[in-house]
Amino acid sequence: MELIDGKAISQAIKDELKDKVSELKAKGIEGSLAVIQVGNDPASSVYVKNKKKACEYIGIGSVSYELPEDTTEEKLLGIIKELNADTSVIGILVQLPLPAGLSEDRVLNAIDPSKDVDGFHPVNVGKLVIGEDTFVSCTPAGVIELLKRSGVSIQGKHAVVIGRSNIVGKPMALLMLRENATVTVCHSKTADLKAIAKEADILIVAMGKPKFIDADYIKPGAVVIDVGIHRDSENKLCGDVDFDSVAPLASKITPVPGGVGPMTIAMLMANCVKSLLKR
Ligand code: NAD
Repeated sequence: MELIDGKAISQAIKDELKDKVSELKAKGIEGSLAVIQVGNDPASSVYVKNKKKACEYIGIGSVSYELPEDTTEEKLLGIIKELNADTSVIGILVQLPLPAGLSEDRVLNAIDPSKDVDGFHPVNVGKLVIGEDTFVSCTPAGVIELLKRSGVSIQGKHAVVIGRSNIVGKPMALLMLRENATVTVCHSKTADLKAIAKEADILIVAMGKPKFIDADYIKPGAVVIDVGIHRDSENKLCGDVDFDSVAPLASKITPVPGGVGPMTIAMLMANCVKSLLKR
């Protein structure tokens, strides 16, 4: 069994991006990521802080909007409209979840698709479906990078994706299809998950159920990617995969923490650089 080191791979990506950003800066091409947080959910604050830190590391600017919990949708949409028009802004990110009463759909749809570095806008999702180059949701894009950079060949493999959320499972399945895998998508209504998972050459788990997937779901030699993040009863981080049970059977596996997690921010930075390159 080989561990897929998401920490090292995400660091390598950020270093490549840092070089690219300084090349662009020398040509006078620069811009900032706008990060909007509404309310002060502690987990969101940590994510926002890490995103700003990553911007600083690769050398792009970041402007942050920390708005009170009772911000109206009208006010938020007004800020997005201004940022859409501001040519110094290369990306707009609204940290989710939004407080109750604000429509995530309306807010995300208001972002100019050419600044949608999270890849959540229906225009960008549609482009992904028809195979056009676009901003892709960061976590599934990160999984593709993890696989490629750990030498896993995807073409012709049977990939099973467990989970069909709009931000992870669905784009994940589309990306694996784009890489010429044969893809099966499983979800909460799938009959006989075990039998299907056991057919996977590459098993990608994004179901939001701590340590759900054990050795009984694994074909010996499978590559196992664990997208889940949870705290277990001892307050330790764990994934959707029961690592100790699965690792002995897998050929390669991502740990939690240090697997998929660090890739999300690296791919957000990659999307920001992609936006810069389009200038
Ligand atoms: P979600 O709750 O929106 O979706 C979960 C999916 O799993 C659903 O489509 C559901 O049908 C499926 N599912 C649930 N129970 C199932 C079962 N018993 N059998 C088969 N399928 C089942 O979650 P999400 O936003 O896609 O996130 C999934 C996990 O990934 C969560 O643990 C989340 O914290 C984590 N996550 C991590 C990152 C990261 O940066 N590493 C980013 C996003 C999400």
